[in-house]
Amino acid sequence: MKKTFVNLAQLQEITQQYPTPFHLYDEKGIRENARRLQRAFQWNKGFKEYFAVKATPNPAILNILKEEGCGADCSSFTELMLAQAVGFTGDEIMFSSNVTPVEDFAYANKLNAMINFDDITHIDFFNQIADMPETISLRYNPGGEFKISNAIMDNPGEAKYGLTREQLTEGIKKLQNLGVKHFGLHAFLASNTTTNEYYPELAKILFKTAVELKQETGAHISFINLSGGVGIPYRPEQEPADIMAIGEGVRQAYQEVLTPAGMDDVAIYTELGRFMLGPYGCLVTTALHEKHIHKDYIGLDACAANLMRPAMYGAYHYITVMGKENLPCDHKYDITGGLCENNDKFAVDRMLPKIDLGDLLVIHDTGAHGFAMGYNYNGKLRSAEVLLKEDGSTELIRRAETPADYFATLNCTEYFKKSLF
Ligand SMILES: *Cc1c(COP(=O)(O)O)cnc(C)c1O
Repeated sequence: MKKTFVNLAQLQEITQQYPTPFHLYDEKGIRENARRLQRAFQWNKGFKEYFAVKATPNPAILNILKEEGCGADCSSFTELMLAQAVGFTGDEIMFSSNVTPVEDFAYANKLNAMINFDDITHIDFFNQIADMPETISLRYNPGGEFKISNAIMDNPGEAKYGLTREQLTEGIKKLQNLGVKHFGLHAFLASNTTTNEYYPELAKILFKTAVELKQETGAHISFINLSGGVGIPYRPEQEPADIMAIGEGVRQAYQEVLTPAGMDDVAIYTELGRFMLGPYGCLVTTALHEKHIHKDYIGLDACAANLMRPAMYGAYHYITVMGKENLPCDHKYDITGGLCENNDKFAVDRMLPKIDLGDLLVIHDTGAHGFAMGYNYNGKLRSAEVLLKEDGSTELIRRAETPADYFATLNCTEYFKKSLF
């Protein structure tokens, strides 16, 4: 059984103020987890986590992480705006984009963000609009299959990201000619990994590559960016990743590979999203309808537009029927939203306690890639986001959309110009 970070009485009070559905975030959990990560990597002098803004693009959340010493990893113009709005500057911003528009590079350059090139052609593309910064990072794609002890973790050979091994050497030489002095190396080879081996294996690959690149080009490698990919246990039977063991695994790889090569000034960076926020957010929703046809359905006031992962990836999200945590799970339900799409199901054939209309349901682990992937299909509006603060009070950190927001980009008829809302 997975536990919620709020109880029924708290939620009843919160829902008096903010109608469901909304995403709720746990400030205490976010801060404690961020501190664990910092401890796991405190052996590395330059360590910095650049939170992947795309996972939870809310300034209040970014501000909490900033207070915990994190930077921001951005990949678009508006994500850079968010980072700037929160007060991230210079090398507190990592710009790990791909298929990058010229305006985005120009803006990242204006902010003195750390630029992480996704392709060798981006060097010339960037050089036409700005002088090269002193430090540039390159994203590596080793190709083939990425395996950990013979288990296939992912398929970099099919991934659109990064430079090939040969292109790294060529790219560094080219950048050296353009005056670049320091280099970073980045790779993202597998997503949502709960094995403690992922970061250490990835680190080994990047460390060895960094040593080779230094030998081939004389380049000074100033940081290695392990990017995102540390996962969370969405299922109740899954073990969480042990971040202390992960940090220790990376330290051992560092000592094995970088230290003997005289490269022990290399800083370790991460760009975690899911690990930083996933478990510390949930979607709070109310049972609106029940329906008994060929199967038994519970219809919620939330839908896939509020949380896309189940519809998109068939992803599992644990569900708690609030106040019924200790009742037997003796009813089999499909838990659905109201989109006119049959994949709008938060759970299929899920065993749960008997649900009554008006019951509050908590859909777990929506803190990362939850609200962020929301959309407006079927004219559904994005929900509010509420922060549960450390003192138990709440703050509305994003209001719910209204029809006026939905129609804000239309002015093709008089209808939308009148104040109808
Ligand atoms: C999505 C992404 C991340 C974060 O990934 P998680 O799976 O949330 O840890 C980090 N870096 C880049 C470049 C990304 O695209």
